[in-house]
Amino acid sequence: MIVLKTDREIRIMSYACRIAAEALKKVGEAVEPGVSTSELNQIAESYILSKGAVPSFKGYNGFPAAACISINNEVIHGIPSNKRIIREGDIVSVDLGAFYEGYHGDNAATFPAGRISPEAQRLIDTTRESLYEGIKNARPGGRIGDISSAIQKYVEARGYSVVRQFVGHGVGASLHESPEVPNYGISGRGVRLVPGMTLAIEPMVNIGRHEVRVLPDGWTVLTLDGSLSAHFEHTIAITPDGPKILTVA
Ligand code: MG
Repeated sequence: MIVLKTDREIRIMSYACRIAAEALKKVGEAVEPGVSTSELNQIAESYILSKGAVPSFKGYNGFPAAACISINNEVIHGIPSNKRIIREGDIVSVDLGAFYEGYHGDNAATFPAGRISPEAQRLIDTTRESLYEGIKNARPGGRIGDISSAIQKYVEARGYSVVRQFVGHGVGASLHESPEVPNYGISGRGVRLVPGMTLAIEPMVNIGRHEVRVLPDGWTVLTLDGSLSAHFEHTIAITPDGPKILTVA
């Protein structure tokens, strides 16, 4: 079931989204060689709690931290650890959510640590741009497939692949709601987009093939071929005037 939100609910949800966006920005500013992923997680958790919100991910299906932090060939769901130290040239994907006044805000971004390779920078840029391509196509009267197709076309035209095994999603009072928002698909297909829908759109893009595997920790998702991966996500609302990004810092 797709839960549509009233204007008032979207306004309240935008508070949670702002907290999530500000927390992500703070973590991004702290990404540098020598920092552990648990230090980054601590920044996220402290900030979210300081705003009177609760980290959406902590305890979700047993996830042990406020942020998922995934490095290089890790796609998503990396578990923060004080043994995991960021090195020069790494790309660091951070995904986090905040729960506030009954609603979740969910967002993600990939940050460079120090100087990174031109290939890594191009991957990050392409993934971020593909997110905005998807958002641009999240119009009332359109279909989920319009978003999916826009992302896939943008990414594949640049020689990369979109992860298929994990997808974006509705978001609201629950962290994961219907409908699913795949990063691949056919425009004109799928659920119709209507005002009041709130969606987390989140392309995960690999330099190599799209296949992924999960580590024995049960969480960390890696590219099967070992290639680099990047991830960007915004929570948006479909409004009568078009898409509105809610996760703005
Ligand atoms: Mg998400």
